[in-house]
Amino acid sequence: QRPLVEVRDLKMHFPIHSGLLRRQTGAVKAVDGVTFDIYEGETLGLVGESGCGKSTCGRAVLRLYDLTSGEVVVDGRAIGTESQGSLRRMRTTMQMVFQDPQACLNPRMTVGAIIGEPLDEHTDWPRKKKRARVEELMDQVGLNRAFLNRYPHEFSGGQRQRIGIARALALKPKFIVCDEPIAALDVSIQAQVVNLLEELQDELGLTYLFISHDLSMVRHIADRVAVMYLGKVVELAPRDALYDEPLHPYTEALLSAVPEPDPAMAGRKRERIVLKGDVPSPANPPAGCNFCTRCPKVMEVCHRIDPAFREVRPGHFAACHLNDPRYGPEHSESAEPT
Ligand code: SF4
Ligand code: MG
Repeated sequence: QRPLVEVRDLKMHFPIHSGLLRRQTGAVKAVDGVTFDIYEGETLGLVGESGCGKSTCGRAVLRLYDLTSGEVVVDGRAIGTESQGSLRRMRTTMQMVFQDPQACLNPRMTVGAIIGEPLDEHTDWPRKKKRARVEELMDQVGLNRAFLNRYPHEFSGGQRQRIGIARALALKPKFIVCDEPIAALDVSIQAQVVNLLEELQDELGLTYLFISHDLSMVRHIADRVAVMYLGKVVELAPRDALYDEPLHPYTEALLSAVPEPDPAMAGRKRERIVLKGDVPSPANPPAGCNFCTRCPKVMEVCHRIDPAFREVRPGHFAACHLNDPRYGPEHSESAEPT
């Protein structure tokens, strides 16, 4: 299976300017060296607390920002170096579904015009053909075509997210970044939208990067999961391996906070791990492992050396010295490198 998306050591640093002369005095390292692949037809979940850099990462992968460094290849093309013109053409391949459909649906445009806007921008189809495509899209996302001439405010939150999805699908993309697509919706509606995304994926062969802070939902939808903390992916694994046998202490802590939905399983529930302190500022991450200020398993080496992102088991990557035979629990003093 080939990756549709390849991300290599991606960095997104935003300069901080201060003082009278607005000199650059530092940088917010929102994404600080992230590497992953997304295979064709799969859903990669990207999880982490707010502010960890997951949204910035998703936007950078679509080149909504200029990359600070690193490489992003989508469908065989290095998008970090593409010109604006060819990026515009690539927008047909890659699209985004946003958290808050409200914010990206023009209240003065009809639903038909909103869904058809990408066709106006990227095709010279005649009106009739565009209209037929818009109606087809409305069918695909479960919106009544009779509502074509209505305005966004006449719809519920769930229906507005369907409008956003239809618009994202208009140009038949292969790859969609879904940034917290259900976070703004009522819990009762969330499952419907997630099911729709899954149906569309099967039907259209879509590839998703699914960004969410909701670990239960990600377990439901993702094939593999990447966990971000302070600008870095600290663990990446096939879904069940990540949830059942996490290798990184941060993942363990996140999972320990997920409520166990099945009461029969409650006895097996992990003990809740409460992390001390706050997430450090991405403008000033700690030396060594970026989790060392809060990690319950921190060791001396963690303050000195940034752990490599290693494939610990086949397909299961983690950035933690505990998984390194030189430093982990099995190491003997003599194995310590000098
Ligand atoms: Fe914790 Fe050290 Fe592993 Fe970082 S490298 S997660 S501080 S044990
Ligand atoms: Mg976000």
